[in-house]
Amino acid sequence: MFLYTAKQQNPAIKALIVEKSPDVCSTFARLGDSLVLNSPTFTKVGLNANLAQGHFIQVSDFDELAERQYPTAKHLHELATMILFHADADIVFNFSVDGVQRAGYGYAVSSKGRTLTAQAVVLTNGMGEQRDNAFRVDQRSNQIIDGDEFIAACYGESEFRDLIRGKRIAVIGAGDTANCVMEHLLPLTYPNHRYPSFQKGPFLPSRVYWIGQGAENIQDFYFANKQRYGHSGGIIEFFWDGEAPFDLPADDWEQARALIERIPARLDSVTHGTMSLELVADGERFEADLVVNCTGRSNDLSAKLRAEEYEFVLGDIVFQGGKWDDWEDRFVLSPRPVERQRIACKLVNERIFLLGCACPLDELIDNNEALDGSLRYQEEKTSLTNAKYSLEHTLPRTVAFAEQFINNIGQ
Ligand SMILES: Cc1cc2nc3c(=O)[nH]c(=O)nc-3n(C[C@H](O)[C@H](O)[C@H](O)COP(=O)(O)OP(=O)(O)OC[C@H]3O[C@@H](n4cnc5c(N)ncnc54)[C@H](O)[C@@H]3O)c2cc1C
Repeated sequence: MFLYTAKQQNPAIKALIVEKSPDVCSTFARLGDSLVLNSPTFTKVGLNANLAQGHFIQVSDFDELAERQYPTAKHLHELATMILFHADADIVFNFSVDGVQRAGYGYAVSSKGRTLTAQAVVLTNGMGEQRDNAFRVDQRSNQIIDGDEFIAACYGESEFRDLIRGKRIAVIGAGDTANCVMEHLLPLTYPNHRYPSFQKGPFLPSRVYWIGQGAENIQDFYFANKQRYGHSGGIIEFFWDGEAPFDLPADDWEQARALIERIPARLDSVTHGTMSLELVADGERFEADLVVNCTGRSNDLSAKLRAEEYEFVLGDIVFQGGKWDDWEDRFVLSPRPVERQRIACKLVNERIFLLGCACPLDELIDNNEALDGSLRYQEEKTSLTNAKYSLEHTLPRTVAFAEQFINNIGQ
C-alpha cells in the first residue's frame, strides 16, 4: 500500500522493499483464508470491508476481488503480487533486517553482516516474532508449532490435517491467532462450505485443550477477547448457547464442541514425556501430542529503534465504513474523514519512520477509534473491528502517510 500510493504521488521515487521471507506479502500468503474481507459475518452485522477506496486492498469496486464473494488473504496475496509485478517493484527477499544505523548522509540497513544503504527508512515489519518465554519449554520438545505456522500448514500441506486427526492438541492463548487456529482445527470456520479451507468430513482431533481461554459465554468471549476479529464467526458461535449455527451440520457442530476443554489458567511449562508432551497450567497436568503456541508476538527491531526518542506523524485519514442496504442489496459506503490523527512514528532528528503494525499501536490509535473490548462499534455499524492492528485502522494511515509525506521523506 505504501509503495503503491507513494509511486502514484511521485513516480520518480526509488523504493526498495526489503523482505525477510522468500515471498511477496508474506503474511497474507501464510494466512490463506483465515483473513476474510467482506465475510458473511460482516454482511450479517451490516459492515463493509472497503478499506481504502481506489486501492487494491478493498472489495466493492475492484473487479478482481469483487468477483469473489468473500475475498481472503490468499486473494489479496495474489493481487498484491500482480500489482507489485506491474509496478516493477524492486524487492530484496531473504533479507531479515537486524539493524539500522546512520551511515554518511543516509542509513545502513543490515542483515547478518550484509548491508544496504538508503536515504530514508520506513519500517513496516508488522507484529514481529513469536514472543519468547511465554512458558518454559524443554529443549527436546519439537512438537510445538506457532499459531501462524499452524494456519499456514493447514493450507499448505494436505497431509497436515491427517496428522492432527485423533491427536490431543493444546492451543495456548486466547487472542485472535488462537481463535483462527481453533476455527481451523475444528469445523468452525463460518460458514464452512463457502471457505476454501472447508474440508468435507472434518479431520477431528481426539481432544482440544484451550489453555488460557476463560470465557464461558458469548459476552465473556467478546469482552475477554479485546482484540478479536469481526469475521471470527465460527469460533464466536462456539460460545453461543444455542442450536447449531447457520450452515454447519448439527452433528459436526456438537462433536466439535464436545472436544474442547477450556482451561482458563496460564500455561507454566511444557516438558517432553515418553510418548507425548506434558503441560502444566496452574499446578494441573495435561498430556498433549501437539502444542500450538498463540501467545502473541513482539517486534524487537521496532522496540530497539524506539529506544531512541520518537514522535508521531499527524495526518488526515478516511475510514471507509458502511452498511448493507437490504433494499438496494448492496453495501452503501459512509466514509468517515478524521483529521489530524497519529498516522506513523518518526525517530526524532532521523529519517526513520515506523508504519503499520511496526508502530506502537496502543499509542498510535485512540481508544475511541478502536474501543477495546466493546461491542459498541460493531453494534453501531461504524467499524469493522476494534482490534487496533486490524487493517481497518492501519491501512488508511499507510495511505495518508504515503500521500502526505512522500515528498518530504528524503529531506
Ligand atoms: C492469524 C491472523 C489473522 C488475522 N486476521 C485479520 C483480519 O481478519 N482482518 C484484519 O484486518 N487483520 C487481520 N490480521 C492482522 C493483519 O494480518 C495485520 O494487521 C497486517 O498483516 C499487518 O500489516 P503490516 O504490513 O503492518 O505487517 P505484516 O503484514 O506482518 O508484514 C510484515 C512483513 O515484514 C517482514 N519482516 C518482518 N521482520 C522483518 C525483518 N526484520 N526484516 C525484513 N522483513 C521483515 C515479514 O516477513 C512480513 O512480510 C490477522 C493476523 C493474523 C496473524
